[in-house]
Amino acid sequence: MTSQLKDVSSATRSFIERTHHILIDGDWRQPRGQSNDVIDPSTGETISSFNGSSPEDVDDAITAARNAFDHGDWRHMAPAARAKVLWRIADLIEENKQELAELEALDGGKLLGGALNGEAPAAAEAFRYHAGWCTKIEGRTFKPSIPGLDLEGQTRLEPIGVAGLITPWNGALVMGAWKLAPALASGCTLVLKPAENTTLSTLRLGELICEAGVPEGVVNIVIGSGSTVGAILGEDARIDKVSFTGSTRTARSLIEASKGNLKKLSLELGGKSPVLIFDDANLDDAVNGAADGIFSNAGQVCVAGSRILIQKSIYDRVVKGLCDKARSIKVGRTLSSSSQMGPLISAQHRDSVERYVQQGVADGAKLLCGGERVEGPGYFFEPTVLADETTRSCVWSDEVFGPVAVVTPFDDEAHALRLANDSNYGLAASVWTSNTSRAQRLTREIKAGIVWVNCHGIPDMAMPIGGYKQSGWGREHGWKGLEAYLEHKSIMHRID
Ligand code: NAP
Repeated sequence: MTSQLKDVSSATRSFIERTHHILIDGDWRQPRGQSNDVIDPSTGETISSFNGSSPEDVDDAITAARNAFDHGDWRHMAPAARAKVLWRIADLIEENKQELAELEALDGGKLLGGALNGEAPAAAEAFRYHAGWCTKIEGRTFKPSIPGLDLEGQTRLEPIGVAGLITPWNGALVMGAWKLAPALASGCTLVLKPAENTTLSTLRLGELICEAGVPEGVVNIVIGSGSTVGAILGEDARIDKVSFTGSTRTARSLIEASKGNLKKLSLELGGKSPVLIFDDANLDDAVNGAADGIFSNAGQVCVAGSRILIQKSIYDRVVKGLCDKARSIKVGRTLSSSSQMGPLISAQHRDSVERYVQQGVADGAKLLCGGERVEGPGYFFEPTVLADETTRSCVWSDEVFGPVAVVTPFDDEAHALRLANDSNYGLAASVWTSNTSRAQRLTREIKAGIVWVNCHGIPDMAMPIGGYKQSGWGREHGWKGLEAYLEHKSIMHRID
């Protein structure tokens, strides 16, 4: 096995090889918790290590964020000045995008090209988009209708306070940015915890945030396992709000943990998103879109189109197209420019994906292609397609979070809609058709936070995303996403 480390820039290599510190009150400190290895999922090689934060470190981080909110200037700063800091963060992300992308490739298992041209620019865009909002957070005035009194009504929007931000491993940089940017734009202070599997890009982003001039104590970064570090953020009464992206299972424990002070929760959770392909669609586009929808980032995407519903008249043709695509995908290391799909994040996660495929077959689904781990170093798994007409297998109902699609035929629009909504999740969906009336009918009736028509998985900062049903609470992006970091206050003035 040869290391991918030799293929990255010297800046990235020296960052990876240094001792990793956490950010508390503007200081980069040695964390006092347990040691963890940093593993490149393309090779299985240990490329670095870090100590996780101890409970005392997390306590210090929360204290710093609380003090910075209660006694600091950030929330009182002129909005235009806050906006400038966010713009500076975006510029620094762009200036350092090669390094950030290489960290995502080595630590997060992202294909380098995607990280460079997709994730890093998207992270910068999150800060620019929210920089624009800083000067537009405003309330209203109105005339109350109480008889006999001369009154003036007013509403104000205020930062919610200290935010705990918890991100998953399948997009550490961009999902960190999606939470940091609205929290900072609103005037909150925060403690951020990335997933233990992918800490490095968040730590580097933290350095850029300091360089951009965010005041001490406003942004604090702790690292380490969810069950210790993350759980404290859920429980601590000095935190006013937690924004969490991750699994529905962890969300339940956060709901439990946050009961003490009834902190506000935003929950961006899992999905089992349907892709509906009708016989009047452009089938080449639909096959390519459905394949990208499930195989990009090896299916480790919350909005992955993991249930592909195909009209009976075109079923064989579309399934053949999908399987041909799946077999043609070049699975390989994240730094190789010829790779089209990278690894799963860890050996443990690959075991879980493999178990799902085996259980799916045991439940009656038919394996059409793939289904095997790729032997050799790294945690690769073949692009896989299973057919399940009965819709009773675990691969139909459960989020696999790997490159595993289940295909199912449908008779007509009503049948397609029933299948699409047959899920505990409701995160996303796509409809492939040339019939705009059908697209309108379906977008009204599908129970999902976002529905794409003739495309899949395209995010935009202005377009809120989030879940129906067990896919979450609240929305990220757009005004809706920013509002989740704001409290609404009503003020009544009596005029003498
Ligand atoms: P996860 O296991 O729920 O972990 C998410 C984060 O929560 C990690 O930082 C994790 O820390 C932390 N955590 C674990 N236990 C915790 C606890 N008891 N209290 C507080 N925090 C805790 O999810 P994952 O496996 O990393 O991510 C995959 C999931 O995220 C999938 O279900 C996917 O669909 C979902 N996701 C949703 C969206 C969306 O926008 N809706 C986007 C991306 C991903 P450690 O990992 O360090 O233990």
